[in-house]
Amino acid sequence: MKTSEIEVAILGGGLAGLVSAHLLAQSGQKVMLFEKKSYPFHRVCGEYLSAEVLGFLEKQRLLPEGLDLPRISEFEYSDTNGKTEYISLDQGGIGVSRFVLDEWMAKRARESGAFMEEGVQVEEVDFLPKEDRFCITLNDGREFFANHVLGAFGKRSKLDKSMSRSFITQRSPYIGVKYHIRTDFDKSRVALHNFEGGYCGINAVEEGKYNLCYLGLSKHSKKFGSIEAMEREVLWKNPKLKHLWMESEFLFEKPEVISEISFEPKAPVENHVLMIGDAAGLITPLCGNGMAMAIRSGFMASELLMQNLSRPQLEQAYQKAWTQEFAFRLWVGRQSQKLFGSGKTSFLGRILIGQFPFLARQIIQKTHGKPF
Ligand SMILES: Cc1cc2nc3c(=O)[nH]c(=O)nc-3n(C[C@H](O)[C@H](O)[C@H](O)COP(=O)(O)OP(=O)(O)OC[C@H]3O[C@@H](n4cnc5c(N)ncnc54)[C@H](O)[C@@H]3O)c2cc1C
Repeated sequence: MKTSEIEVAILGGGLAGLVSAHLLAQSGQKVMLFEKKSYPFHRVCGEYLSAEVLGFLEKQRLLPEGLDLPRISEFEYSDTNGKTEYISLDQGGIGVSRFVLDEWMAKRARESGAFMEEGVQVEEVDFLPKEDRFCITLNDGREFFANHVLGAFGKRSKLDKSMSRSFITQRSPYIGVKYHIRTDFDKSRVALHNFEGGYCGINAVEEGKYNLCYLGLSKHSKKFGSIEAMEREVLWKNPKLKHLWMESEFLFEKPEVISEISFEPKAPVENHVLMIGDAAGLITPLCGNGMAMAIRSGFMASELLMQNLSRPQLEQAYQKAWTQEFAFRLWVGRQSQKLFGSGKTSFLGRILIGQFPFLARQIIQKTHGKPF
């Protein structure tokens, strides 16, 4: 493909970018996706995939085939003291690692005809008003031109800086840490265990493995000198977590770690780029809905791009559709996070689940969309 012939450039190859690449290429558009890493790779994520997108993924053959993916239908919640409540999940979900899922989707996008540039970082994206198209500059100096750009570069990227997005100037206190483990835990359950400053999830993924992933405070890892020391001094105060650490086999040499995780609102359209997935807004991980939102927003943007709208019509339609589908979910997610990460609030969270399960289910429902 000539560099001048790209119809849609997709910046970032997580779920949002990969779904869009697959759908747009399948519809005959000339699509190029740029991903700074090479598949397959691990990323920080709880790997609980909400059932809201399963029908869509199955229809598009975007769910890895030949694997027995665990079906999850129950939620366990413990307060910082390890006292626990359980609640059934109306929609539920499945467990699947990003190592497997993203690689499968990248294969499907290639099969559909998308051009995939892996191992290259996009340095800048500029809209050229006179030419009514974008110029994309890579870290190896190459330049590409595209009529449309989807920003699928996740929660925090160099591109947020180069585009001067407002949230990037604010510091965030959160870090995310992920392991794969082997352990003795009910495969049909997802648990969230509170500790001072954060919460840790566990659920089964493929091949008898489990994902253990938490959101904590970077000041705790600084205070205790390392991730391991923080886990011993902070997380293990919850006996449920101490038990998990003591009784499990850890499969990674070292954990996957990210910092500066921001839940601040972002704009879904900036500098004429349609933002999808976390680049448009990250829902708090306790909702277990970020992957579904990434997939859904990729689908929504692709559907609109296939309609040959004028640029102003396209931007307006995407902004409206995104706000309708996601803005309230993100807000509820931010409010719900207040029930986590301290003795008092996690106690209240446990009482809510144990004594007012109807209300707890309503809150969970408000952070999820309808199946599609
Ligand atoms: C601790 C934690 C736990 C979570 N647990 C869950 C969960 O259990 N369930 C759930 O549904 N969601 C969960 N989430 C949220 C979920 O991980 C995200 O919402 C989801 O990964 C978003 O997908 P995405 O495609 O938008 O971004 P990503 O998957 O982050 O992909 C973005 C891609 O862009 C690439 N990129 C970035 N900058 C550039 C550049 N300049 N050039 C080229 N490539 C670039 C990156 O390498 C990356 O591959 C969790 C999040 C956190 C932080």
